[in-house]
Amino acid sequence: MNEQPTFVTHLECGLHGDRYEADTIQGLSRAGKPLLVRYDLEALGRSVTREALASRPADLWRYREFLPVRRSENVVSLGEVHTPLIRLAKLQPGKGELLVKDEGRLPTGSFKARGLCMAVSMARELGITRVAMPTNGNAGAALAAYATRAGIESYVFCPDDTPEINVREIAAQGAKVWRVNGLIHDCGRIVGEGKQAMGWFDFSTLKEPYRIEGKKTMGLELADQLGWNVPDVIFYPTGGGTGLIGMWKAFQELQAIGWLGDKLPRMVAVQAAGCAPIVKAFEEGAEHAELWQDAHTVASGIRVPVAIGDFLILRAVRESHGFATAVDDDAILQARDEVARQEGLLLCPEGAATYAAYRQELAAGRVSPEETAVLFNCATGLKYPLPEVHRTLDCRRPIDYEALAHE
Ligand SMILES: *Cc1c(COP(=O)(O)O)cnc(C)c1O
Repeated sequence: MNEQPTFVTHLECGLHGDRYEADTIQGLSRAGKPLLVRYDLEALGRSVTREALASRPADLWRYREFLPVRRSENVVSLGEVHTPLIRLAKLQPGKGELLVKDEGRLPTGSFKARGLCMAVSMARELGITRVAMPTNGNAGAALAAYATRAGIESYVFCPDDTPEINVREIAAQGAKVWRVNGLIHDCGRIVGEGKQAMGWFDFSTLKEPYRIEGKKTMGLELADQLGWNVPDVIFYPTGGGTGLIGMWKAFQELQAIGWLGDKLPRMVAVQAAGCAPIVKAFEEGAEHAELWQDAHTVASGIRVPVAIGDFLILRAVRESHGFATAVDDDAILQARDEVARQEGLLLCPEGAATYAAYRQELAAGRVSPEETAVLFNCATGLKYPLPEVHRTLDCRRPIDYEALAHE
């Protein structure tokens, strides 16, 4: 009675294409690579129309035929609303629209909610009761929230310089969280090594198949919002790359069922200059990226020295005729201040990196002012340290009001 119309046929190794059974617990492929969920797209395309979707609530579950959850009772939700596309009218350089998709409106304040609501719903469907994850902050917060809601126990490990707010929100939402004196891949090693002893299911980025499917809804939703169209170019702040891989998968699935034309957007992977393994691999023409040494950046969400889905990110970037590019921390913070001051929109540092990259590539001629560009702001700017304010006012003394304008 609660069976959802779902069209999952099997899982597939992202590198070699060998098949794996769905409806059973799966981690990585035999080759140790991410698994991708495959659907019967023909049957899916016959079962639903764009008009039918339009009459459903404007949230992530609108796209349920494209998603893996079979039984609606397993859906774990905190209200995954559609996020707005906000035009940067003042900063737009030409006729092409410059739009920010503001993912900070989602539960737990970041787009990690998209991936984790799906992965946790599937964990519930498959009977998983205990999970562990390495995180730079936002993924851990989303896991904590959804796992707690689902009655699943969660263990979270973050680098010890993870923003304080993230560590606290993870704990507040019911996960067990530890600060680790290393980077995210060191935290990942702890999860891997502790699995046996603790009976953890490994929720690391791309080590379970369903987070991508949640992130895929960014692409479905974006096309839906643009009237089943796509922009010319998408700037995406890239760490583990689930969002970029997921969006590219969405566009390909939509194309396969005939909802999009031939033109797909160029996908631009944006990284921080202090941690840019994908940019380096892209420029060298490599299929895989090497571990980035001494990774550092204020944009903690994209401080990922090694990504298990590197080849999938690089493939999407190349297939789409996009590119990978890096911006330094000064440019990131300047971009954040510029967008906030000019447009009243506070971006997170990772989101600000996409605006900095957009300006840089506009100057370099790799994107034109006539093109429609979408920048992804993947978390609320409120979770991050903001510039200090030093002005004070003594209410017990006479105030020179005119002078306030010049301070
Ligand atoms: C996780 C995160 C990213 C990177 O996302 P991936 O899809 O894993 O590359 C970017 N920005 C923010 C704010 C994040 O939390």
